[in-house]
Amino acid sequence: MLSPFQIAIDGPVAAGCSTVARLVAERLGILYIDTGAMYRAAALLAMRHKIDLNDEDKVADLVSKAKIELLNPSQLEQDGRLITVLLNGEDISWQIRTDEIGKNTSIIAQYSKLRKVLVQKQQEIAVSHDVIMEGRDITYRVLPNADLKIYLTASEVIRARRRHLQEQSKGKDSSFDQVYDQLLERDKRDMERKIDPLKIVPEATVVDTSDLSIDQVVDLIETQVSAMRDKGN
Ligand code: C5P
Repeated sequence: MLSPFQIAIDGPVAAGCSTVARLVAERLGILYIDTGAMYRAAALLAMRHKIDLNDEDKVADLVSKAKIELLNPSQLEQDGRLITVLLNGEDISWQIRTDEIGKNTSIIAQYSKLRKVLVQKQQEIAVSHDVIMEGRDITYRVLPNADLKIYLTASEVIRARRRHLQEQSKGKDSSFDQVYDQLLERDKRDMERKIDPLKIVPEATVVDTSDLSIDQVVDLIETQVSAMRDKGN
C-alpha cells in the first residue's frame, strides 16, 4: 500500500496557515486538518467543565475522553468557516474562535499530557489520509516524516493588521494595539514553552507571506508538490 502524502505547515498566529492550507487541500483534493482547532476545542471543553486551567491532569483526562471531529464544511455550513469542528457531536466551529479561547488555548497547549493526547489523535488521522496539516509542532512532532514541510510567517505588524481587519469585518470593535499585544503574547507563549514550541526545522521551506497574496502562497506550495510528484517522490 502507498503511504499517504503528507504536507506539514507550522507558523505563528495569523501567518495565514489556515487559509492557505484549506485552499491547497481543495486544489489537491486532500484532507485539511487544523490542529489549532483541536487545542481550541480542548480549551472550550475545560472551560465548560469549569476545570482549573492550571490542572494539567484534569484537562488531559477530560480531553482524552472527548470526541473531537474535524470535517469539511457541508453545503449548509458555508458561512465563512474553513473547517467544521464537532465536540462530542456538537458544532463548536464558531464558539472556539474567540479571543478568550485563543488565550486559554495557548495556556493549556503548554501541557505535555494534553499534547500527547491530541498528537495521537492527529497522527491517527494522517495514517489513513493524504493530508495537509497545520499547527505549531506538525513539521517535527506530529508528522516528522512529512513529504513537504513549510514554515509560514509574516512580520508581527502585518499579522496583527490582518487579524485586526478580520475582526473588524466580523463587526468586532477591537483596537489595533489590543490585537497586536495579544498576538505578541500568544507568539511568546507558543515559541518559548518547554514542550514542543513553535520552531523552524532545517528541512522546512520558510515562506514569508508579508508581501505575498494568498494565491501566490498557494501557488508556491502547489508548485513544490508538483515538482516532488514529477520527481517521483
Ligand atoms: O492555530 P491557532 O491559532 O488556532 O491555534 C491556537 C493555539 O493552539 C496556538 O496559539 C497554540 O498555543 C496552540 N497550538 C499548539 N499546537 C498546534 C496547534 C495549535 O500548541 N499544533
